[in-house]
Amino acid sequence: MNLEQSILEIKGIGQQTANKFAKLGISTLGQLLEHYPREYEDRRKTAPLNNLAPEEINNIIAIVATPPKMTNINNKIIVTFKVTDKLNSIFITFFGQAYIKNQFKVGQMYNFYGKVTEQRQKITMQSPEFTLITDPNNLEQILKIVPIYPTTFRLSQKIIRHSIAQGLNDNNLDFIDLIPNSLTKKYNLLGKFEAVNNIHFPKTNEDFFNARTRLIFEELFMLQLSLYLLKEDFKQQNKGTQKEIPEEYESFITSLPFKLTNAQNIVVNEIINDMQSPFAGNRLVQGDVGSGKTIVAFIALFIAVKNGFQGMLMAPTEVLAQQHFEFAQKIFAPFNVTVELLTGSTTKKQKQIILENLQNETLKIIIGTHALIEDNVEIANLGLVITDEQHRFGVRQRLKLSKKGNNPDVLVMTATPIPRTLALILYGDMSISVIDELPPNRQPIKTNAVNTSYYPRIYAFIKKHLDEGRQCYIICPMVEESENLEELKNVINYTQELQENIFNTYQIAYLHGKMKGREKTKIMEDFAKGNTQILVSTTVIEVGVNVPNATIILIENAERFGLAQLHQLRGRVGRGIHQSFCILISNSTNKTTIERLKIMEKSNDGFVIANTDLQLRGQGEFFGTRQHGIPEMKIANLYTDSKILNQVQIEVEQILETDPKFEKAENRKLYNYIMQQHDKQSLYNAL
Ligand code: ADP
Ligand code: MG
Repeated sequence: MNLEQSILEIKGIGQQTANKFAKLGISTLGQLLEHYPREYEDRRKTAPLNNLAPEEINNIIAIVATPPKMTNINNKIIVTFKVTDKLNSIFITFFGQAYIKNQFKVGQMYNFYGKVTEQRQKITMQSPEFTLITDPNNLEQILKIVPIYPTTFRLSQKIIRHSIAQGLNDNNLDFIDLIPNSLTKKYNLLGKFEAVNNIHFPKTNEDFFNARTRLIFEELFMLQLSLYLLKEDFKQQNKGTQKEIPEEYESFITSLPFKLTNAQNIVVNEIINDMQSPFAGNRLVQGDVGSGKTIVAFIALFIAVKNGFQGMLMAPTEVLAQQHFEFAQKIFAPFNVTVELLTGSTTKKQKQIILENLQNETLKIIIGTHALIEDNVEIANLGLVITDEQHRFGVRQRLKLSKKGNNPDVLVMTATPIPRTLALILYGDMSISVIDELPPNRQPIKTNAVNTSYYPRIYAFIKKHLDEGRQCYIICPMVEESENLEELKNVINYTQELQENIFNTYQIAYLHGKMKGREKTKIMEDFAKGNTQILVSTTVIEVGVNVPNATIILIENAERFGLAQLHQLRGRVGRGIHQSFCILISNSTNKTTIERLKIMEKSNDGFVIANTDLQLRGQGEFFGTRQHGIPEMKIANLYTDSKILNQVQIEVEQILETDPKFEKAENRKLYNYIMQQHDKQSLYNAL
């Protein structure tokens, strides 16, 4: 059978079963065979009947000793019979399955697998899985490691298992072995068919391990290679927009409200190099919170515009987009560069005008949220696309944005540090710059983790600073009260409580993600202008918000946040000349939690914090796959399989270095496969 053929052609699969498989996204043989087990049950050993584990699943071989008896208790049909291993005996019962009575005949030998309990002093196995043993000398076929699959309603493990076995039984499976022979040898990898066979039906632990390694290797190898090809493709088709340093550049730089740090200068130069080159730049800028990424973005926008192009900056929240917009207006106005804001709450009329002006090129820079991705946003002469806080967007969104122009330069900014192996996957198609220095005169934020007994002192501390003219953030994990989570502070009630009982002579406001765009903007504006002194908020202010006069951030239920997120939140203060403070409140007594919060007290360095967090929580939780646009994997885990990922990356780089045109037969095969499987569009979409 051909892997593209419908599973309906597999013996034993009818339309009904096929419909159930369809719910799992399986309609072809290839898809079926790629439906890998979620876990395995080791049923190789059986227990003697006098040595069964009570209340647990047991695996036994026994002979039917009495004819099945059907009783009816409270309208429920129960079939019971006795089985024996010649020394001892137990009972087997089935519930609600009358037909089963005729299945078992005295003297037949079965393998039973099910939970054993003691009922009215009778040892009983309930509704076990069972297999008839016809040849007691050939138990290997029955006592096996059994795969357990992800499934859906009414699609039994038995059917999945059987269908896959049937599928694998076919002698003419047309698997393509994609991994080059040299690598198969070097890493001792199984062949494709053997690997697929053994991942479903391993005979030993080693079988499983080798199969898994091989399949992971292939998956990561193909992904990494595709990404590199994408990058090459990007470069080649992206001959075009070559920009130069504009005349007004020096006066623009001098006009900025501060002098750039060394690190900012270096990164700006790297970006300028991209822009000057005949190829489109594609660059990631990493920099800790507060390192000054925004201005770097604006400098790039300035250059693009003064070269006659238009530019676009996308931010993950309206609050942040608004803030960028205001800052941009300020610094661009003296240079006659037009800027507009486009978000979900831009009115239809405004939007109409903006879209027109993007078309007739009177509007040079557009700043906004996801709204920018929409298809109707068309830009006449896009030369630069920037995504801020890239970790909040997927790879696909980034690519979609960059396709709005004719080969624009692409710049993405992120504060979340990631290990190199992962960066090569997530940003495999990009060059990387790092802003590894904070602007001068920043005082490290003083951080304290305390419990709620400190409230009186904390409130007094806040008042003292408010009286000196500073402002304060208070972060709660939730918007509204929810019944089962009463212990969590929520924004609305807490604001009211603070206003009435603690800060009654101060201006206090609240902000959360469910509010309307315009409402949010108004609240943020008031806070930025200093009209409000305390802003109670959910994590909507987590990314990017910049109010330098705010010097205290109080985080309630701090145990609910990851370290990286706490660091982001903390980064809302310490943005100006005043000493800033971060207070983490938690009543948790959990040792790891306390340990985590202590790390915040000790370090202000995002990279150190991220690394410690990684160690404490494991990478899976740390990143949250979706947020990062990490591609979905069939079997590999980008975090736990980092060793294989490393090997793969070395090998892929090796191929690109020694055979950049894919001329060797085995490499050509790979190249063709990738290009065929994923025409460019689907390659983008797969990401
Ligand atoms: P992030 O990297 O977190 O996006 P921002 O771009 O918001 O950081 O910058 C943080 C703060 O530092 C802002 O108030 C910004 O105006 C200021 N800033 C940026 N660069 C410098 C610099 N070279 N000197 C002084 N202040 C700077
Ligand atoms: Mg920022």
